[in-house]
Amino acid sequence: MSQRGIAVLGSTGSIGTATLRVIARHVDRFRIVALTAFGNAALLREQARSVQPEYVGIVNRNGDGDPAWATGAECLVEAATRPDVDIVVNAIVGAAGLQATLAALRAGKRVALANKESLVIGGEFVLRACSEGGGEIVPVDSEHSAIVQCIGGRPASEVSRLIITASGGPFRDWDAERIARAGIQDALNHPTWNMGRKITIDSATLANKALEVIEAHYLFGLPYDRIDVVVHPHSIVHSFVEFVDGSVLAQLGFPTMELPILYALTHPDRISDAPARRFDPAAASPLTFEPVDLERFPSLALGIQAGCTGGAAPAVFNGANEEAVCLFLGGTIGFGDIPRAVDSALSLLGDAPAESIGDVTAADAAAREHVRHLFRQSGGASKSPAPVYV
Ligand code: NAD
Ligand code: MG
Repeated sequence: MSQRGIAVLGSTGSIGTATLRVIARHVDRFRIVALTAFGNAALLREQARSVQPEYVGIVNRNGDGDPAWATGAECLVEAATRPDVDIVVNAIVGAAGLQATLAALRAGKRVALANKESLVIGGEFVLRACSEGGGEIVPVDSEHSAIVQCIGGRPASEVSRLIITASGGPFRDWDAERIARAGIQDALNHPTWNMGRKITIDSATLANKALEVIEAHYLFGLPYDRIDVVVHPHSIVHSFVEFVDGSVLAQLGFPTMELPILYALTHPDRISDAPARRFDPAAASPLTFEPVDLERFPSLALGIQAGCTGGAAPAVFNGANEEAVCLFLGGTIGFGDIPRAVDSALSLLGDAPAESIGDVTAADAAAREHVRHLFRQSGGASKSPAPVYV
């Protein structure tokens, strides 16, 4: 059997390191040919020593790192488009992942997509790059992986509704006033998943679920009124698909990203693996579900609204949210300021058009600048802090 060449972008992060663990169990099938990271040179060097890739890129060398490594943001596209790469695992956090997704799809690669922000901000353009380049997107996000598995290749005309599950995050039981005053450690304390800092904050505001609704809209081609969200605190049911005859399928398992990562590599096939924990219905009981409260989690409502508005609104939502999360993690603004900043950016910039990818990246930049300006004015952030989640 010939090995498939893999590029892991964002190899030093939570999804990146999980991907390396998964691939280490299947070296007969997969060979890592490229690794990239933002700036964690020490871990990147250790990974490079272990998997011996042909190509290593670090966006921000900052004095350390190997002189043979490629540097700068261009390394992401370079790694993603190499001829020896069959599958690009895009595990970069944030809008910084967009260009690599576009380039990989245009080059006809399979993109195992963890970087949901690519689809949120570049939706139509990402889909076009995919069809024009002959590429393929297989989601890594556990909810979307569940949906792909439930749909099982049936045509879109047979799907009537998606029900995306949300853990509810650490503030599921908190009242609105207490949520607004939550501290950084409170927000980083996710009940069921151990993830990078940015997505962990997004899981506390539920902005992550809004990103996932928009991601699902583009991946599965369903209008927003046929994509629902339900809170399921234990993260056992990863999502549901309702079909036109009323039948509902769900995909279940104890929370681990290793399964959706492996499935994104092998789809539509399944291969034998040794998960940390086999499913046990009795141990998983009881499975409970509750409606989502949009009043206490305004970021979710704002994001879904941005999705419905279309154009550059999702890019504004995402850019403003990324900037606000960065300011929150830098200790400059409060938790309640995150949705406030996003709301303000959408009110001002949300009707921007998206005729080109340039429009989308301009909207992203304008949203970030607006959020910085907002808190500069109110005496909050005096300058944009260094990104604290890379
Ligand atoms: P992380 O912060 O742990 O890792 C991010 C990786 O991206 C790191 O390797 C970092 O070096 C790299 N990176 C950061 N900024 C970059 C930049 N400007 N340019 C190039 N590389 C950069 O994040 P994560 O939790 O692994 O999440 C990665 C992506 O996967 C996100 O889009 C997230 O929403 C998605 N995701 C994560 C999980 C999870 O369990 N962690 C689950 C579902 C989806
Ligand atoms: Mg998810």
